[in-house]
Amino acid sequence: MLENLEVLPPDPLLGLMAAFAQDPNPQKIDLGVGIYQDNTGQTPVMGAVLEAEARLLASEGSKRYLPPAGDPAFTSGMLALVLGEGAAGQFGERVRVVQTPGGCGALRIGAEVIARSRPGARVWVSDPTWPNHVPLLGGAGLQLQTYPYYDFAHHRLDFDAMFAALGEATAGDVVLLHGCCHNPSGADLSLQQWQVLTELCEQKGFTPMVDVAYQGLGQGLEADAAGWRWMAERVPEILIASSCSKNFGLYRERTGALLAVARDGRAAQAVHSQALSAARQIYSMPPSHGALAAGMILQDADLGDTWRHELAQMRERIASVRRGVAQSLGSDFQFIVREAGMFSFLGIRAEQVKRLREEFGIYMAESTRINLAGLNDGNLEYFCTAMNTVLNE
Ligand code: PMP
Repeated sequence: MLENLEVLPPDPLLGLMAAFAQDPNPQKIDLGVGIYQDNTGQTPVMGAVLEAEARLLASEGSKRYLPPAGDPAFTSGMLALVLGEGAAGQFGERVRVVQTPGGCGALRIGAEVIARSRPGARVWVSDPTWPNHVPLLGGAGLQLQTYPYYDFAHHRLDFDAMFAALGEATAGDVVLLHGCCHNPSGADLSLQQWQVLTELCEQKGFTPMVDVAYQGLGQGLEADAAGWRWMAERVPEILIASSCSKNFGLYRERTGALLAVARDGRAAQAVHSQALSAARQIYSMPPSHGALAAGMILQDADLGDTWRHELAQMRERIASVRRGVAQSLGSDFQFIVREAGMFSFLGIRAEQVKRLREEFGIYMAESTRINLAGLNDGNLEYFCTAMNTVLNE
């Protein structure tokens, strides 16, 4: 049986990480890895999470399974975080939340629910998009189709092209949107563009699915949510895959939620039961630790304040790195301050990427996507000098 399996080629990003680990250059910088790092290059556990964990350790008397839909304090907290304080009253029985293993789990359970309603449904994804969208959605049997999104030549979102392409989407199609901090481009929809897409959705009848992996890391927790909240308040149905990996720093604890707003209470109940059935086919119950910690933070005013303060510091640090890079690299790189979240495409040539790696120990994906959180007071100048060298020679 198992002898029939072929060895798959390694992920190219893993190859890059391995090459980085082996590079003896003391000034080397990893701009490929997709996690937040502070000004010292570390990814520490957030203070609010440490405090919640201490309280959990003191009070958690059992490791019994969580309910299949997850911890109620977490799911109700996520509803308020993602769709707003008044969401429970506003959406009533039309909204349901299921705790999932990370944002990936939410995307996959969402895809399974769609496939159960419409096997092989078409999902429109941005070009480019986060590469994992392909296996997560395609693995559930959905057919992926791209819509133009990022204009590489001008370093900006090409909304006209996006809008024109999505004019072809019909009822029964799903349109995947990045909530904020588009990965990999950093180019986000404005509120006005969300409003235009909401109208398009109402006209064409497609179902939006929003991937919210960076809420709070763009403009702020509420500002980042304005677009998808506008849409959720108006369209008949919407799926939202939310992750606590970045904004709570809970990466390995696999903490996320799938929110579904359906046409009516019966439809919402059907989505909920199908989501739980899909989860039962894959992993049964969600992991508990991260959700109990995040749920406690979302329900406790003091812990919530501490967390929002820490998140604001992370957001401001990324914005200040963006300003620093744009200032040092000059007029061709001003797009970096207009973009949001951890990622941007530098848009430099393949041989420049190679020189940065080989001569300066600066590692980035071939696409030139960089994680700006990999830069800090200790290495920003080195990075900008290296960039100016390869750009000007
Ligand atoms: N969507 C996007 C666009 C992401 O970048 C990520 C994390 N890298 C996720 C979803 C989900 O992450 P996780 O499963 O770790 O919560």
